[in-house]
Amino acid sequence: MKGYDRKTIGDLLEGALPWQQTKQIMSSYKDDDRFLKALAAHQMRVPWKARILLPLGENLYIVLKEGQRVVRCSCGFVFGDASRNWKLGAVVLVRKTRQELEEIYPHADVCDGNWMELREFICPSCATLLEVEACAPGYPIVEDFRPDLDAFYSEWLGAPLEDASGEASPNEHGGSSLSQPPDRNT
Ligand SMILES: [Zn+2]
Repeated sequence: MKGYDRKTIGDLLEGALPWQQTKQIMSSYKDDDRFLKALAAHQMRVPWKARILLPLGENLYIVLKEGQRVVRCSCGFVFGDASRNWKLGAVVLVRKTRQELEEIYPHADVCDGNWMELREFICPSCATLLEVEACAPGYPIVEDFRPDLDAFYSEWLGAPLEDASGEASPNEHGGSSLSQPPDRNT
């Protein structure tokens, strides 16, 4: 199986590879250490040092920060404990009127806002659009997934996380704000 170096995987994440090469990499069997190379490439992209445990999106990560697993934007903004749905700490823009929906789909039929709305989840600090969901109005905010990091690292990667505890953070029960301002040093 062909292996790719870290720079190639980094260029893949940045969208900097020619399409033919991108397609070839995407279509081929994954090299065994692809996740770790991708993780290293992600780590080089962000301006902070906290260890990335899992990418959740182009600009969203679960990281280990000061002994706590938190969800963090690439700008440094911390949404809170990783066991909590990060979307609850995002700025939400709901598009449901025809005018609002046509800003996204200017040349196509748009949905009926009484039946479906678009929710855009935006970082409160850097205003990056992090996720979009389409739901019936009134439907609860979707939690996309809650990964079992301990099982993934120990059973799939063979490298158990040292901080594995499975316990919720003090913040979750403390009633204080889960969000923290960006801190680019950690
Ligand atoms: Zn941000």
